Amino acid sequence: MVTKFKLCAECKKNKFEVVPNARYVRKYCESCSKKRKKAWDEQWKVKFEDLEDE
Ligand SMILES: [Zn+2]
Repeated sequence: MVTKFKLCAECKKNKFEVVPNARYVRKYCESCSKKRKKAWDEQWKVKFEDLEDE
């Protein structure tokens, strides 16, 4: 099996392993996907807090 490496779309520095047959194709390296997930979670947290203020 051939292992492919893809350049991260976020930092454009880190390369990560891609599984060709995977259902979900990753775009970001490990650290960037963690950062993005955290930002996503906080985005929802902020929206939720905004709703509570009303
Ligand atoms: Zn990255």
